[in-house]
Amino acid sequence: MKVDNEGWLVPEGGEPRVVRLPTVRTYRLVVPAPLGIVWHWTSGRGGPGFAERLCRRVQTYRRGIDRPASWHVLIGRYGVIYQSAPLLVGTWHVGRPGVISGQRFDNINRVTIGCELENAGRLRKIGERFYCWPFWTNPGAPAYERRPDPRCAIDAGRAVVVQNQGIFDAFSSEQQATATVILAALVARFGWARQDCLHGHRDFDPKRKEDPGPVWADAVLLQILNHVFGGRDAAAAASAPTAAQRG
Ligand SMILES: [Zn+2]
Repeated sequence: MKVDNEGWLVPEGGEPRVVRLPTVRTYRLVVPAPLGIVWHWTSGRGGPGFAERLCRRVQTYRRGIDRPASWHVLIGRYGVIYQSAPLLVGTWHVGRPGVISGQRFDNINRVTIGCELENAGRLRKIGERFYCWPFWTNPGAPAYERRPDPRCAIDAGRAVVVQNQGIFDAFSSEQQATATVILAALVARFGWARQDCLHGHRDFDPKRKEDPGPVWADAVLLQILNHVFGGRDAAAAASAPTAAQRG
């Protein structure tokens, strides 16, 4: 995988496909090149066509009508890459202050790349089945009248129990492989350190957001980083919590 001069990902032989769906929802970075990446999950049920539909929906923007959200890259459940913006501009994926690479910024969108992962997020076990947000057909009803929404049902094989934190949707091996290829390209191009690759949305907006969740942040991502950085800092990664177990 390479990053071309404008900031688009260009796969090499045998690497995951990159589908370009450019969005107008961008602005200038306040640094010459991005200083790190922030991981997100899409939440929701997902499925065939979901990732592409989501990216097509954010290609345009109607002020006052559309929710102001965008990102650079979305990794679909089957490992396909959907790129919405060049990596040398900012997108609207966090919109909060924070510290990146040791510097404080008013809006970290101006210095980072946003990467969405197609993932249902936090799950609930209702009866014998697992469900993703919004869980219920009638979420506003009193608890005893709520009915789980069959459209939100998630295959039990995807449910990962994380001790003391809850149940989460698993990431696919294809997503892990694709994220590894992308990160290797970004680290090579922008000279990032391991710590520049660890940011999650929840770190900047903990009251409202929990993405990308513990399965990604505390387990999958650490494996990816060991691969990308060739085992450097591996001791630190090994001591991090890896409580994710198949539920
Ligand atoms: Zn997010």
